Amino acid sequence: MKEHKPTSSKKFYHVLTRRGFLSVGFFAGAACAVCPVSLGAERKRTVVVWSEGTAPKDVYPHDINTVIAEGLKSLSGWDVRIAGIDQPEQGLPKDLLNTADVLMWWGHKRHGEVKDELVDRIERRVKEEGMGFISLHSSHFAKPYKRLMGTPCSWREYKADGTSVRVIVKLPDHPIAKGLKNFDLPKIERYGEPFRVPEPEAVVLDGIYKKPDGTEEPGRMGMCWTVGKGRVFYFTPGHETYDDFYRPEVRLIMHNAVEWAAPKI
Ligand code: ZN
Repeated sequence: MKEHKPTSSKKFYHVLTRRGFLSVGFFAGAACAVCPVSLGAERKRTVVVWSEGTAPKDVYPHDINTVIAEGLKSLSGWDVRIAGIDQPEQGLPKDLLNTADVLMWWGHKRHGEVKDELVDRIERRVKEEGMGFISLHSSHFAKPYKRLMGTPCSWREYKADGTSVRVIVKLPDHPIAKGLKNFDLPKIERYGEPFRVPEPEAVVLDGIYKKPDGTEEPGRMGMCWTVGKGRVFYFTPGHETYDDFYRPEVRLIMHNAVEWAAPKI
């Protein structure tokens, strides 16, 4: 799918980085008398897209967080920020985490490096202050997601064997499904049910895996919970060697999920 290639990622990465520094500088310092956002403008909401820097460069040249953030340019009234584990304070200093309305998380190989103190802060932000948390694919084993679920969060099996999937909109009236129709992903890492999480309050997206031998198997693709004051969404696709986060359907789901997960004030 040629149109999914990251032609504008590099440029967007620099824009994001520059905006990120400016915003961090503003929130870290005292209110600035000449800063436009202090002149009565409505505060933009903030989504932080976090990843761990392990995605292959041929698919995600500046890691997965940058491509997800690029897909979120469609959000109106939002600051879209990127963060990564190799940045100071693992990308989430207090000033940034405390202003995030939604935190999106993609991790796989470096879950164990995430500091428990950071997980504590994320848990507090979600449960006590209503920050939304979106866990993507292999982040089912991410420390903050496991903390929020309170269960092992394991699937029965994990197979990247050429399986494809039909993603099915199970709850068409749910905000995360807005504008979305059933669609296919030509490749997916198959995560076999059961998924050891609390019973979701909504399964927005279901799926039917089609295995290389022609047999089919059901698997849930998008699930919602409320944890304390915060909303949590888990999305099953998003394996790092596939181009899922360039695809318009996945980008629409990410867009809708951010708006759904934001605190309702
Ligand atoms: Zn994977």
